[in-house]
Amino acid sequence: MAARDGNDGRGAAVPFIGSRMSRLSAWIGGAAIADAGDAGPIADPERDGHRALFADIGAFLDRHALEPSVAHYQIARTYILRESHPLSCSIDDRLFAGGTIDAAFLHRLTNRPSHDPLSPERIADMADALAARLTETECTFRQSHASARDYEQALTVEAGSVDSDPDGTVKRLLALTTQAIARNRLLADRLEETHRETNQLRRNLHDARRAADEDHLTGLPNRRCFDRRLHALPATQDGAAPHCVALCDIDDFKAINDRHGHDTGDRVLKLVARHLTNELGIAVLVARHGGEEFACLFEDCTPEVAFDLLDGARAALGGRILVNQTTGDGIGRITFSAGVASLGDDPGAAMRAADAALYAAKRAGKNRIAFPPEDDVG
Ligand code: GH3
Ligand code: MG
Ligand code: MG
Repeated sequence: MAARDGNDGRGAAVPFIGSRMSRLSAWIGGAAIADAGDAGPIADPERDGHRALFADIGAFLDRHALEPSVAHYQIARTYILRESHPLSCSIDDRLFAGGTIDAAFLHRLTNRPSHDPLSPERIADMADALAARLTETECTFRQSHASARDYEQALTVEAGSVDSDPDGTVKRLLALTTQAIARNRLLADRLEETHRETNQLRRNLHDARRAADEDHLTGLPNRRCFDRRLHALPATQDGAAPHCVALCDIDDFKAINDRHGHDTGDRVLKLVARHLTNELGIAVLVARHGGEEFACLFEDCTPEVAFDLLDGARAALGGRILVNQTTGDGIGRITFSAGVASLGDDPGAAMRAADAALYAAKRAGKNRIAFPPEDDVG
């Protein structure tokens, strides 16, 4: 708790006697005590806590001369209860630096862009910036067009007076040309600036798109990306090699978490991700499908070849004995099971068939690859 004692935890005096806010707090507190007094003292720690919190919020708003708006109340509450670490740190830092906690500061604090490249605020900011740059570019082109037209018209007018006033015409033409050059330079600078900003936006959008397609833990493409690639694949032509999908699931992974902790579990997930991509090769798309499950897309590859590739990866992983490098504890062997199915022209059906095959592999004893049971094919 930062401000229960009526200051910011730094000993600053709280000048709230006589203020509207504190009178209100005191009135609410006093009324409640009076009620309790009539009926004899009733201990209600929860209501006491609410009263104390309300008084602290009032004191915070009063101390910083903040209007008691919903937004300010919310920030004060969050700060006092330390519910948001970044918000509390920002306010504390500001107070330490002797800055004022005013409405503008709180507005900036709650409206500053998030660092998450995919936060709706950042994407909305990028879309706004892009729309603004497009409008600017359009405006610059319009101005450039209007300026060329004005120059052309002025030249036409001046051409009519060249015989009657050759010296004056030359002077005016020179002046017109100088103006036109200056205007063009300005427009070119503006276009250059817009070009730089658009390039930066393009890079930001590229980063956001990558982040949207990537699994943060393993760095593999995520399920969203996998599904998009799967659905974008053209149907196999007659006579061409088919495509296949596979679902791989680490065996008894929960026990690894339970025995060695979640962090070690995460490291195992990264290791299996690396192992699958290395063993299956760059022609195979390996994605994290969720939890301890990986999806693979084998293009131009028969189910038998996919089966053999996966079986090689399975045997190679099962042949390793893993040690937790942080603690030195032996993790032992990690195995996975997988189901393979051919793609056909229905990606959803192929994934369901691969899942049924995976289930069959688990039921048959794990650490193996399986095709879908007969009645699940197609
Ligand atoms: P099976 O052989 O039948 O697949 O058993 P299993 O233990 O591998 O499967 P189960 O579905 O029982 O447990 C999967 C566990 O994976 C449970 C979940 O906590 C864990 N898990 C899911 N995602 C993550 C993650 O990102 N990191 C870690 N460390 N664990 C995860
Ligand atoms: Mg699973
Ligand atoms: Mg599993």
